[in-house]
Amino acid sequence: METHQRLIAAGLASPNLREYLNSVRIILSNRMRGCAGTASIRKHVVRLNARLLTEHRDRVPEVLAHEVAHLIDGYLHGRSSHGPQWKELMGRLGFEAKRCHGMDTSRLKCKSVAHSLINTAS
Ligand SMILES: [Zn+2]
Repeated sequence: METHQRLIAAGLASPNLREYLNSVRIILSNRMRGCAGTASIRKHVVRLNARLLTEHRDRVPEVLAHEVAHLIDGYLHGRSSHGPQWKELMGRLGFEAKRCHGMDTSRLKCKSVAHSLINTAS
């Protein structure tokens, strides 16, 4: 299911939230190492690790949902973490709420860390 359809199914497609999410830029970065993705709530930017996700294309929807859940969490609550509100959003989007992606990053010559969140209140 497409992420947008998941938002509708999760009851998260309000006009204001939709406008916010439509303003989000998705950047594919070749410079990221261990993180699969990052979300900047204030800058309306999701950055995805292009090298990692090229090797794990099947994980793109999950990683995108992870970051979108942070954006929605931040939009609704001013900030986001991997706490209960984010976990609930991941569930509503249809994904398991995992902080760590668990993908092999050894070929990227970096530590296998999960995710960093640029957590700035708007
Ligand atoms: Zn996260």
